Amino acid sequence: FRKKGASEKKLLDNLLEGNKTALGRAITLVESNQPLHQEKARSLVEGAVALAGKSIRIGITGVPGVGKSTFIESLGKFLIKEGKKVAVLAVDPTSSLSHGSILGDKTRMEELVKEENAFIRPSPSGDSLGGVSRKTRESILLCEAAGFDVILIETVGVGQSETSVHSMTDFFLLLKLAGAGDELQGIKRGIIEMADAIVINKADGENQKAAREARLEFKRALQLYPAKESGWQPKVNLCSALYSTGIPEIWKMLEEYQKLAKENGYFYKNRHQQNKQWLLQTIDEHLKRNFYQHPEIKEALAAQLEEISRNNTTAFAAANLLLQKYRDLQKI
Ligand code: GDP
Repeated sequence: FRKKGASEKKLLDNLLEGNKTALGRAITLVESNQPLHQEKARSLVEGAVALAGKSIRIGITGVPGVGKSTFIESLGKFLIKEGKKVAVLAVDPTSSLSHGSILGDKTRMEELVKEENAFIRPSPSGDSLGGVSRKTRESILLCEAAGFDVILIETVGVGQSETSVHSMTDFFLLLKLAGAGDELQGIKRGIIEMADAIVINKADGENQKAAREARLEFKRALQLYPAKESGWQPKVNLCSALYSTGIPEIWKMLEEYQKLAKENGYFYKNRHQQNKQWLLQTIDEHLKRNFYQHPEIKEALAAQLEEISRNNTTAFAAANLLLQKYRDLQKI
């Protein structure tokens, strides 16, 4: 046991020195579902947490094909030139359901990946979005403790994953295309409401005029939403991720946001709020996992499900029986 503790300490020390191999190993432990790995991961995260937090966490979303990886590569390379250390994480709930993940499969960010000051990690797998979110949050802390000061968290425009990424970031950026037709349709309303900035990508070549028009349209649309608690008025920017135009302006905007939100205190307030939510979610997930993975509960649950299909019990009675059984098991 002592030896194991020593190797973890070494891993943590290396991680704190900014060693990317150590960071990668630590994240692998965080992502593992094995109890022994989880225990190690917990001590690593605990060791890292005091040194974490000193970054800006940026959520980036958009439908497949909008240019997320191209954008992240372009922004990432720009930031590295500015002397930043950039970590890219992903939240992709589809990767756990089907093997064809939307974010993970293609060769992505080929140039960024070669940079010494970039760290890129595909989406963890998980049996639920909750699992993926926990792993991503812990990975954020590990990246920060390793000295990464800009954390880009990518997600794809499907379902709940945006809400999850929104709840773990300081700034939420929505990538859009001009003339894609869904600008003013209700479907993306929730996401547009969460956005601190809409960036219209592929504003190059023949697209430029349409992009400028879309910008005006989005600006008008954003004015219809209630003011944000941060005091920030969401911006609409144009860029071409492919030709790296508009990227410095986007970083300038992100710096303006940080300045405003730090001065008025919202930045810290929001992080505290997110931490509280995280605490509750962690307990939630832990309790559920303990319950459903308990061998005796697994067996009893299967039996009760069978009883229900035979009409021998009610859902209510079966649930009570299982919860009572779980309480009794805790007492032993
Ligand atoms: P993702 O699915 O959102 O990650 O999108 P990708 O970054 O893989 O980009 C999808 C396609 O759009 C690729 O063929 C890119 O080369 C192309 N693309 C991305 N950004 C731009 C851009 O700014 N301008 C143009 N013309 N094409 C782009």
